[in-house]
Amino acid sequence: MVLHKLSVIHDGQSHAVDYDSDEGEEVLKVQLFSVTNVLPEYQNFSDLTEIVNGLHSLTLIEVQDGMYTLKALGGNGGPPVPAVEPSSVVTIPLSVQSDEELARALQAEEDALSAQQQWPLQSHQHGRAAFQAKLESYMLQVMLYEDMTRQNAARASVSLEEMEEKALVALARQGKATVSDSEKSFAVLVQLLLWFKKSFRWVNEPDCDSCGSKSARIGMGTATSEELRHGANRVELFRCTGCRKEVRFPRYNDPMKLLETRAGRCGEWANCFTLYCRAFGYEARLALDFTDHVWTECFSPFHNRWVHFDPCEAAYDKPLLYESGWKKRLSYVIALANDGAYDVTRRYTRKWSEVLTRRTEVTEAVVQEVVFALTARARLSRPAHELEVLRIRDNQEREELLAGLAEEESASALPGRQSGSQQWRMLRGEVGSMSPSLAAEMINPVRACVDEHVKEIMLALGELLKSSEPIRVTNLWVKVLQKLQSQPYKVRRELFGTKDWLKEECSSPLLQAVGLQRDVQESGRVLIQLAGSPVKTALALPVAIEQLVDLHQQLERIGESNIDQRVFSNWTRLAGGTSCASGELPPFEIASAAFDGLNSTKWLDENGATSGWIEYRLPDGKSATLVGYQITSANDAPERDPQTWLVEGSETAGQTWRTLDSRQGEHFEARLMKKCYEIDVQKSFPCRWFRFLCLSVRDAANSRTPLQIANIDYFSQKSE
Ligand SMILES: [Zn+2]
Repeated sequence: MVLHKLSVIHDGQSHAVDYDSDEGEEVLKVQLFSVTNVLPEYQNFSDLTEIVNGLHSLTLIEVQDGMYTLKALGGNGGPPVPAVEPSSVVTIPLSVQSDEELARALQAEEDALSAQQQWPLQSHQHGRAAFQAKLESYMLQVMLYEDMTRQNAARASVSLEEMEEKALVALARQGKATVSDSEKSFAVLVQLLLWFKKSFRWVNEPDCDSCGSKSARIGMGTATSEELRHGANRVELFRCTGCRKEVRFPRYNDPMKLLETRAGRCGEWANCFTLYCRAFGYEARLALDFTDHVWTECFSPFHNRWVHFDPCEAAYDKPLLYESGWKKRLSYVIALANDGAYDVTRRYTRKWSEVLTRRTEVTEAVVQEVVFALTARARLSRPAHELEVLRIRDNQEREELLAGLAEEESASALPGRQSGSQQWRMLRGEVGSMSPSLAAEMINPVRACVDEHVKEIMLALGELLKSSEPIRVTNLWVKVLQKLQSQPYKVRRELFGTKDWLKEECSSPLLQAVGLQRDVQESGRVLIQLAGSPVKTALALPVAIEQLVDLHQQLERIGESNIDQRVFSNWTRLAGGTSCASGELPPFEIASAAFDGLNSTKWLDENGATSGWIEYRLPDGKSATLVGYQITSANDAPERDPQTWLVEGSETAGQTWRTLDSRQGEHFEARLMKKCYEIDVQKSFPCRWFRFLCLSVRDAANSRTPLQIANIDYFSQKSE
């Protein structure tokens, strides 16, 4: 058997493909089909062995008439790169583990294991007892999460409905209007993580309770009976640097107490967050890293696997965060739950043989025995059907951990790793003839821009400007919409007074744009309530409020007659497109954030200072003649503002571009400042795609400055 570890990138997602040369080409075809959706009968391989052996980069290329063939892509003496239509390329780069590398890894593993056998017997016995005691104390800890009183207290401290709303809006922003229960449930869990991160406080040295000054560590104290009651076996002592009083920092282990204190270090964070996960019905584990960190794992039915959640970092599904990101030298990561203990170390490393050399507390056999015994005990009273479900899941997880599949998902976007933009440049260098935007798609996904409401809101503001008192009316409508936004998202409804401005016709498009309706009651009072999808309203309301506030401030500052009417009245904002950029910073500062109409979100390319670009692509079959565009500077860091740029248009879906507009030395004097640019109509023509290409940021001297933009709005004439 010769095993080749291939990694296939498709649609921005990476999948591992293990190609066993004994199984041959037919099996590989099915494997490739399962990840790329290119049917096996359309895959045509010749001289497969020669291609696969010893190569680092393979490409599944459409040759003609929908037939695909597997070709080597440069390097290591493979066949030359064929000239291909770039629209049909699927690359298989990353690691092709050679037989030699595989053998070396196996040897290192064996060496580490035999070293464990050399330890004196005494250290074996001592190690086992300590190892077991440590895990047992955490088993008791995780059982606290099953207690109904604690779960109820956790549920009472957060609004599930608010998490749900945020989750549905986040999904809608990705163009997912309807999702399965499992996907929604996972999205809610992510929101719970983000909320938790904001609601909990990190404590290094506690502030003094009396005078609020900083304190300095003086040592350990003895726990009081009250502290012990909440599981604080350890109490750290500090001295206030102001009033010199002693400050206690009891390290509470009871998550119930943590719901109240909402503070601590990673132990307290993971402990309390895992309780929240259990309280909302998620299967959750406390993952104990013996090199002094702790986090949570949750089983996601949507992904059908365990997913890493680190509440301190608000990070999820980034299992290599510690080893690759923080350069941690991991040894044991043991996950504990009400149904057992699990050695999940392999999920968090790609250097297993190296990790093995640091696993010196007990032998591998003892790890397994202890973990097995704890699991057996935890499952003693479980009914047979539950045991069967657990058994299947255990096997599936074991296979996953052995195959090391988890890592590829999140290998990008780890702190300290290459950014997407650099990867893109590297890839562009390798692929030569491929257009940059198509090469980038392999790294940076094409994202749906859910922005029809942004277009409608801008037109609605144009109508509102027709009011007899726009300064007053815009301000009043901000208040109305804020009132509705503060209500539960499923039942937004508010009865207002009898004021005439509430009934003015010019506000109808605004209400419609945010999915609300107005009924004037017999009493003359005005009822405003949801008119359609609550998610649409949840998505549109913040945009409308931000834009109204912005317009109101402009009206106050420069007066009605100086308002730039073009963006509201003469032009129509383009909408319904997709976006792709040279680089982005997931999960929030992504390409689509530049087109969501929200000033509070932005797109950022860490390497965009001198060549960052972002495309806006109209849906298939649509084109528009650009007459203007509006750029909004981001919330912070003025040095990252674009200063010199081109706006280009393409009739040919990115194969050829023509310049529509160019600007030099532009300066955004304020944060979240909108600047509108008109395009020379002589240069404009119907385009399907638009590209903003930054040639320099404000800090032009430093090419390492990121590029960031809060919003880009493209406009065509109103008739289009
Ligand atoms: Zn003090």
